[in-house]
Amino acid sequence: MISLEKAKELILAQVKEEMPSEDCDISSAWLRTLACDIYADLDVPGIDNSAMDGYAVKKDDLKEASRQHPVRLRLIGEIAAGADNEQNLQSGEAISIMTGAAIPPGADSVTPIEHTDLEGDYVNFYLEPKSGEHIRLAGDDISRGKRVLNKGAQLSAAHIGLLAACGKRKVPVIKQPLVGIIATGDELTEPGAPLKTNRIYNSNSYSLIAQTMSAGAKPVYLGIASDNKEGLAGIINKSRDCQILLTSGGVSMGKYDLVQEALCSLGFRRIFWKVAIKPGMPTLFGLWENRLVFGLPGNPVASMVTFEHFIRPLIYKMLGRKDTTDVFVQAIATEDIKNKPGRRKYLRVQLEYKKGNYYASATGAQGSGMLSSMLGADGLMIIPENVEYIMAGQEVKVRLLCKTVTGGGGII
Ligand code: AMP
Ligand code: MG
Repeated sequence: MISLEKAKELILAQVKEEMPSEDCDISSAWLRTLACDIYADLDVPGIDNSAMDGYAVKKDDLKEASRQHPVRLRLIGEIAAGADNEQNLQSGEAISIMTGAAIPPGADSVTPIEHTDLEGDYVNFYLEPKSGEHIRLAGDDISRGKRVLNKGAQLSAAHIGLLAACGKRKVPVIKQPLVGIIATGDELTEPGAPLKTNRIYNSNSYSLIAQTMSAGAKPVYLGIASDNKEGLAGIINKSRDCQILLTSGGVSMGKYDLVQEALCSLGFRRIFWKVAIKPGMPTLFGLWENRLVFGLPGNPVASMVTFEHFIRPLIYKMLGRKDTTDVFVQAIATEDIKNKPGRRKYLRVQLEYKKGNYYASATGAQGSGMLSSMLGADGLMIIPENVEYIMAGQEVKVRLLCKTVTGGGGII
């Protein structure tokens, strides 16, 4: 049995280079990984423009304007957002201006409409503006030539909006690794079909599909393999286009745990089997042709948790992502917890922040089959292999689930 750290090291060592890149339309770029730094080749906004609906003015015309002592200026025109303007503002004049419209030459401030009244061809102003007030300067948000996004960023809604604001229609992204997903077990039935006696629904495939997508890779669902070598080998053979293959179930010591045998019959080379963690002990990893193959445990919690330990960091590395999955917080245990020493335990916990501390409470019964314990789990409380007992009030380390930070990892 090897440690989680060693297992991860052996997995990540297999990634020699990141995936190649491809162009992607920004409308489908959400969660994709940027393949190069992005520089702005224009100013955003491109022109000095109004931040308010109001009047473009010269501030010196409105010295000491107030409700008691309004100042009148002559209205000489209007500029709508996007409209061309040929007027030059002279002293004693105002131009009606809309939010986003170009500031006319000669104007140095905008007075919002609510501090004015229109009276025929004149406007009464009740407020003395400050210089440059309500004017958004060209390049205020993004200036031409500036690096606006970094290679390796996973594209969020904000990234995509910014790309659009810079006029980029297509963006170079890293190709998504294809992740083949296979469930194994004669007891499994696909959700939606009637359930025969003694069967259960296949849940692992669907949590693994969702986890794969959330990590920025592309799931290729290959179905359920029955518990015999031929059936398993037949489905495993369908994963030829994939860079990663995940099976779940059939990797323990039972008579029908035949995944490893089926893989070996196809030429699979094992790198490790069994990691000293709970849940997730029977995890299998090796290489087959050009694929990284994982035999994940069948218990639904173990399948999800081992994905977080091993597959998510692998996908991040293949994508060249700069963020990390290893984010930990210090927390205080809210209850006593017993541990069987030997394997490091990862307990599903909910975190609550109170008066400067995180408090970690188990999300319910912690069996490896209790999928409900993953619901509401903010993280995994780490109980070291040599610790037998955690007492309520004791400080513990929690690895956040599915949360990433830009830059380094470590304890926050
Ligand atoms: P195994 O390692 O194949 O013996 O599976 C361990 C436990 O996980 C058994 O109770 C299986 O029924 C269950 N299991 C295996 N695969 C799945 C799956 N895809 N969805 C839900 N439960 C599963
Ligand atoms: Mg099984």
